[in-house]
Amino acid sequence: MGLATALALQTRGFQVTVLERYHHVHTYGSHSGHTRVIRQAYHEGAFYVELVRRAQARWRELEGGNLGSLMVETGMLEFGPPDDPGLQGSIEACRSCNIDHELLTPAAAQKRWPVHIPSGWQVCFSQQAGYLKVAACLDALRGAAERAGVVIEYGVRVRELALGQPAVRLLLDSGELRACDSAVVCAGAYTKKLCPGVFNTLLSIRRRVLAWTTPQAQHRDDLRKLPVWGAFTPEGFFYGFPYGEVGNTGLKLACHVPAGAPDPEVDPDRLDREVHPDDLTPLTRFLANHLPAGQGPFAATGVCMYTCSPSEDFLIDRHPNDPRVVVATGFSGHGFKFAPVIGELTADLVARGVGGPQQTAFSRVHQLRQLQPAT
Ligand SMILES: Cc1cc2nc3c(=O)[nH]c(=O)nc-3n(C[C@H](O)[C@H](O)[C@H](O)COP(=O)(O)OP(=O)(O)OC[C@H]3O[C@@H](n4cnc5c(N)ncnc54)[C@H](O)[C@@H]3O)c2cc1C
Repeated sequence: MGLATALALQTRGFQVTVLERYHHVHTYGSHSGHTRVIRQAYHEGAFYVELVRRAQARWRELEGGNLGSLMVETGMLEFGPPDDPGLQGSIEACRSCNIDHELLTPAAAQKRWPVHIPSGWQVCFSQQAGYLKVAACLDALRGAAERAGVVIEYGVRVRELALGQPAVRLLLDSGELRACDSAVVCAGAYTKKLCPGVFNTLLSIRRRVLAWTTPQAQHRDDLRKLPVWGAFTPEGFFYGFPYGEVGNTGLKLACHVPAGAPDPEVDPDRLDREVHPDDLTPLTRFLANHLPAGQGPFAATGVCMYTCSPSEDFLIDRHPNDPRVVVATGFSGHGFKFAPVIGELTADLVARGVGGPQQTAFSRVHQLRQLQPAT
């Protein structure tokens, strides 16, 4: 989000410097794990559909004619019990936003893909979906930002923001104080540390585990033909990718939101990065129940962090103590696909004071309301 915002600000005439604690691709934040789903059938809210469409256009522009180098179209398969609000939200988004889709019976879906879907469940296949190659996307954003004139400094950690002074000042780990006219905080899971106060109250950091299995050789061709998929099950929302999506690391799957299991808040500086057998049990069970062809030894695993807002909508707003500071956060496990558009909305908020028609949904006030008890 930081690179995309820097690019958008620089093209609006600002001179931008990005201060990055690590590098533009690493495993200590929220973008690790090689791939991210991009889909138009947006059960989180139909107003996101327009933003996804804009983001798809931006990723294609960033590909510069090298089709598929950043974004691979596969379509998206979703299934679940007919009364699941998430599945119904996806189907509703397809209908209300004219997204090409098919509603299938479990039997018809099982003829096309190696999935097991209980009879009585609903299945939706939507066309305008696929996955993004994370490192390639971030390389492209970095390249475009640098070509536009953005200066990127790696290995620089901002320790503190000094607000309410004549200039915004950033205290770095080195002890240096940097002054600037305005600052944008896109620190992912570390935002709470930089912006205590209201953002600390509004954000919660969650640990998520990713895994890649090594399916048996005879199933790999079928698994390669899978679209990206999402399953709304009583155990939670699981999702995954075709086999060998980037390189040939295996079959990637994860659980977005576990149902009925503890989901404690974590400290990003003390994150348990080790993957334990218990972390993998829900994935193993999911494969046995719904994607048996994908079963096999785990080839790789990883840990990543969500920065969740109360409503799981994004939070892009001014800092309450200093309007020259804008904070873009709360991407709640579904922000990556939007990065170029988030950059534009955030840059507009800095440059013009308005971030777009979604600004109300992405405001602090909206999120604070979610925390108030219903009357
Ligand atoms: C397991 C998992 C699966 C996901 N799947 C999807 C998906 O399929 N589709 C989708 O659209 N989204 C998905 N997401 C969400 C998406 O990846 C995130 O919303 C997105 O990466 C957030 O970007 P960010 O820039 O806010 O955070 P990050 O990518 O973490 O970047 C924040 C940057 O700030 C730097 N930083 C932090 N603090 C400081 C400091 N004090 N000084 C200097 N630099 C600092 C960090 O080093 C980091 O590089 C997923 C997330 C996870 C964890």
